[in-house]
Amino acid sequence: MSLTIPFNPALKELPVYQPGRPIEEVARELNLPASAIIKLASNENPLGPSPAALQAMRDVLAHLHLYPDGNAFYLKQKLAQKLDVNTGNLILGNGSNEIIEFVGHALMQPGTDVVAAQYCFAIYPLVAKIFGANVITVPARDFGHDLEAMLKAITPATRVVFVANPNNPTGTVVPRAQLIDFADKVPANVLLVIDEAYIEFLDDAADFVADIRAGGRANVLLMRTFSKIFGLAGLRLGYGIAAPEVIATLEKVRQPFNINAIAQAGAIAALDDEAHMEKTRENNRRGLLFYQAAFNELQLEFVASSANFVLVKVGEGQRVFNDLQRLGVIVRPMGGYQLPEWIRISVGSPQENERCLQAVRKVLSPQPA
Ligand code: PMP
Repeated sequence: MSLTIPFNPALKELPVYQPGRPIEEVARELNLPASAIIKLASNENPLGPSPAALQAMRDVLAHLHLYPDGNAFYLKQKLAQKLDVNTGNLILGNGSNEIIEFVGHALMQPGTDVVAAQYCFAIYPLVAKIFGANVITVPARDFGHDLEAMLKAITPATRVVFVANPNNPTGTVVPRAQLIDFADKVPANVLLVIDEAYIEFLDDAADFVADIRAGGRANVLLMRTFSKIFGLAGLRLGYGIAAPEVIATLEKVRQPFNINAIAQAGAIAALDDEAHMEKTRENNRRGLLFYQAAFNELQLEFVASSANFVLVKVGEGQRVFNDLQRLGVIVRPMGGYQLPEWIRISVGSPQENERCLQAVRKVLSPQPA
């Protein structure tokens, strides 16, 4: 069948994003019960959602015949109060992925440049390409951002610069002072998107919220999510924090009702569950130490991580991924990130980490001839 529909030319070479494989899909393939499989592939929270959030979500189910509050009034109020900003500083997205798309609608088109780092989160170049923008990829330094080189890469056509801090899939973090210096130097007509999906795992993060609260950083958009520390990836909820003028523009491209009623209720409750967040942080600290010790012992190169996952060099990443999957452990192969010798493992519960490590040992041990 010959294709005659003139699809947007930008889509021609665009790959489809490959998410971490769902447990149910792998279970079907291996003919195993879902309970026999663990997923350490998408940097989710191994402790699950906050129990308080679960209860709040159950409570709204009886009202699902009604549209959600299109402006998520109570959730925005709650977030504003937690962050000590105005609701006009906030925008909500169907995952922070959707906020990246808002940025695309607002600023990207053919003839514009987007600057990002090598090994950046795959959705940045994907969205840029959807809008026909040109992506300038700046080589990484020690797997992290080379901010000096990123500054130099900015052209008069540059509209957006992306910095993820910590970065996914490398887990690297930009030192606080360097990030502040970079934000000071990015030209005022370029939007600096600082993706803070994993910020809650850091002890000493640069506090750009304070600057935005004080009316500064007019060209900075912070992005955060309920998918990681809050354990609510399945709800799809992220948010942006920026100057009211930036937010007001992004609001124009947001679909009404993009945040469903269950997500609004769950997030409000989750924001108050500090104990769940602290438990998650503690589990993560231990998990990272566990993997570091194990990789040192196995003499596997890894990138020191400040997030809830770790990038480790295993040789043939795709083969190791396949073999681990056969053992019921889903991790993330990194070929799509031009890191074919590496896999990314999300920190799980202590039991999941132990099982993953045993599986890694097994698939890396020399096979009998
Ligand atoms: N940014 C980064 C750096 C991420 O790793 C992720 C999720 N993997 C996201 C944004 C998107 O998260 P979500 O859409 O679930 O909020």
